[in-house]
Amino acid sequence: MAPSAVSPELAHRVPVLANKKVEGSNNGNGVQASKQEGLTKDVESMLGNWSNFTFAPIRESQVSRAMTRRYFADLDAYAESDIVIIGAGSCGLSAAYTLGKLRPDLRIAIVEAGVSPGGGAWLGGQLFSAMVMRKPADAFLDEVGVPYEDEGHFVVVKHAALFTSTVLSKVLQMPNIKLFNATAVEDLITRRDAGTGDVRIAGVVTNWTLVSMHHDDQSCMDPNTINAPMIISTTGHDGPFGAFSVKRLVSMKQLEQLGGMRGLDMQTAEDAIVKNTREIVPGLVVGGMELSEVDGANRMGPTFGAMALSGVKAAEEVLKVFDLRKAENSQ
Ligand SMILES: Cc1cc2nc3c(=O)[nH]c(=O)nc-3n(C[C@H](O)[C@H](O)[C@H](O)COP(=O)(O)OP(=O)(O)OC[C@H]3O[C@@H](n4cnc5c(N)ncnc54)[C@H](O)[C@@H]3O)c2cc1C
Repeated sequence: MAPSAVSPELAHRVPVLANKKVEGSNNGNGVQASKQEGLTKDVESMLGNWSNFTFAPIRESQVSRAMTRRYFADLDAYAESDIVIIGAGSCGLSAAYTLGKLRPDLRIAIVEAGVSPGGGAWLGGQLFSAMVMRKPADAFLDEVGVPYEDEGHFVVVKHAALFTSTVLSKVLQMPNIKLFNATAVEDLITRRDAGTGDVRIAGVVTNWTLVSMHHDDQSCMDPNTINAPMIISTTGHDGPFGAFSVKRLVSMKQLEQLGGMRGLDMQTAEDAIVKNTREIVPGLVVGGMELSEVDGANRMGPTFGAMALSGVKAAEEVLKVFDLRKAENSQ
């Protein structure tokens, strides 16, 4: 993939506060924010000098404002997104990386229910460290710069966390992507076509995950929303949180029933997940293990190539219909 720059349009739309530096002025908090002589040091020069060590001065409200200002600016900017990715597991992060790189002009929100993004890809399988990827998924490792050992038909990354942390750090550095973690998607926004009666997905309904977990014992905790012409759902297979969007499609009668994830067959499972990653209803592409619940695909066990390449395919499927869905979404 050829690297591309952030479009001037997006640069204008994404929050700019993060780039503002307050230097040499009293910023209204009673604390001089000037760059003080001698405070900017390299780490090596700190060694052996701890008796003279001190941090730059700060007032507590500065810390609060530094965080809240940016977060609320992001909530404001991303309330209208181009693409929302539900779930920051290996598939969602791979989709985000691919989209963020191919289309730096698009505003992409990732909504992840957990505090820690990464889903099930922090270990390779059971509690073992190494991550196995069957070829040709090594192409994605080359793309993001994760080293591996070549074992012929498959490659091995020495620790699954190396894959996940590398993709995550690349995604988080992209200026057109915002990760909202500790935030659960509670529902989908829908529109019904006046002519055909078909339902299209037009965004997501979100809430703090901790709030989502307390709907049974607290009231008045209405959700927030993000409008977007395209959603990618990668919430993993069925479980307390998993298969979220496809289960909702069944309850909305947009899918007759789920196929249910089938028994383990590594040989066929990975091909099926990648090849069938697609737009399930207009506006909603499903990838990763969530898709196994729709199609009744086999589980694959601890081999992650399908998750990465399903993410790449999800990005491609989104871009195929993006202009059409965007036009529909503006009506
Ligand atoms: C019992 C069990 C069996 C497994 N068997 C297999 C197997 O056979 N094959 C296999 O490949 N893997 C298996 N795994 C685990 C494997 O790590 C994941 O399936 C794999 O990481 C899937 O990647 P993914 O990106 O599709 O989803 P995940 O890595 O599961 O990521 C999904 C992410 O979506 C988030 N999420 C879920 N719902 C919401 C929501 N409503 N809003 C926002 N975020 C949400 C989750 O917090 C999570 O971070 C198994 C795991 C378990 C627990």
